[in-house]
Amino acid sequence: MSKQLAELLFPKVTLTPKDMEQKYPVRQLPQGAQVTRFAPSPTGFLHIGGVYTALVSLITAKSSDGILYLRIEDTDKKRQVDEGIKKIIDGLAAFDIDFDEGAISETESKGNYGPYIQSQRREIYHIYAKELVEKDLAYPCFCTPEELEQIREKQIQVKANPGYYGEWSNCRNLNFEEIKENIENGKPYVLRLKSQGDENKKITFNDKIKGKIELPENVADIVLLKNDGVPTYHFAHAVDDYLMRTTVVIRGDEWLSSLPTHFQLFSYCGFKFPKYAHISPIMKEEDGSKRKLSKRRDPEASVDFYLESGYPVESVIEYLYRIINSNFEQWRQTTKEDRSKFKFSFNKMSKSGALFDLQKLNEVSKNLIANMTTKETVKSIIEWSEKYDREFFEVLNKDLDYTYKIFAIDREKKNPRKDMTKWSDAKNYSAYFFDEYYTEKFFLPENIQKADAIYMLKKYIDIYDINDENSEWFNKIKTLCDEENYTSSVKEYKKNPGKFKGHVGDISTLIRIAVTGRENTPDLCTVMKILGEDKVKSRIHSMIDFLRG
Ligand code: GLU
Repeated sequence: MSKQLAELLFPKVTLTPKDMEQKYPVRQLPQGAQVTRFAPSPTGFLHIGGVYTALVSLITAKSSDGILYLRIEDTDKKRQVDEGIKKIIDGLAAFDIDFDEGAISETESKGNYGPYIQSQRREIYHIYAKELVEKDLAYPCFCTPEELEQIREKQIQVKANPGYYGEWSNCRNLNFEEIKENIENGKPYVLRLKSQGDENKKITFNDKIKGKIELPENVADIVLLKNDGVPTYHFAHAVDDYLMRTTVVIRGDEWLSSLPTHFQLFSYCGFKFPKYAHISPIMKEEDGSKRKLSKRRDPEASVDFYLESGYPVESVIEYLYRIINSNFEQWRQTTKEDRSKFKFSFNKMSKSGALFDLQKLNEVSKNLIANMTTKETVKSIIEWSEKYDREFFEVLNKDLDYTYKIFAIDREKKNPRKDMTKWSDAKNYSAYFFDEYYTEKFFLPENIQKADAIYMLKKYIDIYDINDENSEWFNKIKTLCDEENYTSSVKEYKKNPGKFKGHVGDISTLIRIAVTGRENTPDLCTVMKILGEDKVKSRIHSMIDFLRG
């Protein structure tokens, strides 16, 4: 009957699993090489946890001379959005996750183990579905949603476990004639697994992250093909990861509880079971407790957040490495070597969920940006602004020499300033250099009276010379201070504050505020040189006017 049933259900399927073995042979790879994949659903949203998982897959493949491929899991039409595949592909590419094989556009793939987009693999799933029916390990189920609901209600009444299994599986024992009649009458059906599991038995396996796991065998006759012939996640997972020759399935731990089902599927289909590494979700600390980094609540859950804010990809990847392996940070402290030299290990991954801390990422990024060359910095800011802040892009491009000078201040030296964590900070950082963004903002430093400020600023204009180099520039301010009883020695001032009007720091701050509208800036002498004599003088005059009211 099984053979007859298989023909009835899949009359057009002529290829066999043997043909698939030939088409997708065991990969010829060096000993120990791992084949991994990233298998997102094209929902249009790429979670930073997805990049994290993809990165673990990439590291596992690359460090063993293996293969990483991208498989698009688009079997759930409800979850899809327009250009969902493109968004995923672009998002991953932006984070330098490079795939050896897999989907490269909404419709195309590269590599010999494709197609890599599940909606294009329908025939392949049907070959194995047919075989399972032939082996009497799958059957059509005609239960309507209402009938399934009735089963569920009864199960609640008698406190039975929910699901389609054992005595509850109405269609499991339909005979060929009944099935044929239903089909001839056009009744919709799904294909279900005929589970041989025993709930009193357990399966044990070793997860590469979670360690030894023991779970009861699966008894549910889960759906393999939905009523439109599209496979469920479980069935597609078994067929695809087998035929694409995945050696380690690296995925979110929401699938851990389905492992007994997957175990059955692999074994009923005669597939070699792959290894598994189940990753716990990325966590965030809030009010002293940890919770999942949430797509709805946390903007930093989306990769778009990093791209739009302009975090250098390098910062994000470097930080993700830190939370992927607990010993990476220590390793980094001892070496500047390329990350590919780091020995990644599944054992050092968090079993309970890596903690994602935006402040720590900011720290990493600040250091990274501070140590970039001026050329790299300007190039990155321009690339970022071209995409995300057109107006700023135009402003920066008006006079590239000027732009270079601004971002060269205090850079390419031993202790560079750490002013920016992301490229969107560049605008605020440099605003007072550009007429488009500079707005007068005058205020008095703490220790200086209005009349004194006016007096000192006027005096300073007289001695200011744009050609003065740093030491001369500062000596002039110091001399002026000493003449006017603002000591040039902060030490002296601290010893005997009553003796002076203030100290050189107060006057420098006054000049800084006049010229930039800020109390803190990079080296003021350089800033003034870049701004040029006219701007410096006119801004100081403006402040004097402002103070005079
Ligand atoms: N498509 C699945 C998801 O979006 C991926 C699971 C897997 O990697 O096998 O969760």
